[in-house]
Amino acid sequence: MTTTSAAQEASLTKTTPLPIMEAFYTLQGEGAHSGKAAYFIRLGGCDVGCVWCDVKESWDADHHPKTAISTIVKNALVYPGRLAVVTGGEPLMYKMNELTLALQEAGFQTNIETSGAYPLTGHWNWVCFSPKKFKAPHPSIYPAADELKVIVFNKSDFAFAEAHAAQVAPHCKLLLQPEWSRHETMLPLIIDYIKDNPRWQISLQTHKFMNIP
Ligand code: SF4
Repeated sequence: MTTTSAAQEASLTKTTPLPIMEAFYTLQGEGAHSGKAAYFIRLGGCDVGCVWCDVKESWDADHHPKTAISTIVKNALVYPGRLAVVTGGEPLMYKMNELTLALQEAGFQTNIETSGAYPLTGHWNWVCFSPKKFKAPHPSIYPAADELKVIVFNKSDFAFAEAHAAQVAPHCKLLLQPEWSRHETMLPLIIDYIKDNPRWQISLQTHKFMNIP
């Protein structure tokens, strides 16, 4: 049997560089941190395959430039906000330890938005877990989730939301968010659902109303 030394393991899990689809400074539009200035780091690469995905151009990691972590952090530091939101794509396709440590050392709060489809890695101040029906989450995400954000595309998503809410920790915030293209249809159902089940809160994609990225 072969064993892996700590140095070999560190080398195997080294994440530099990462495929960056886009990075931009804006307001976080949705979820528990909605309304805050944030630097978004969108990684390329996703194999979850949501039919309603609004960033399908992120799916193929080869289409996005591999960028050194030092460059990612340097670009983030240009702006005054010190909240970094790592999203995708599916960011947990990559080991996140190196990027998150570098961001935290530079003074950033590190938030992730993930489907949880891969084992959780990284040093996070906030974990937004948004499970998808198209690829089951990895068990490591449930105890770490600070926010369970379920996208409601049709009525069956309420039962899907409850099934995941039963597995997260007590501190985890529970959010229901209408899928943007089904917004008008699903919004009244979500409002009624939350009135009947008040441990849930609504999350709206306010950045789309503000017409900002
Ligand atoms: Fe798109 Fe996110 Fe679903 Fe991947 S997990 S397909 S990026 S919505």
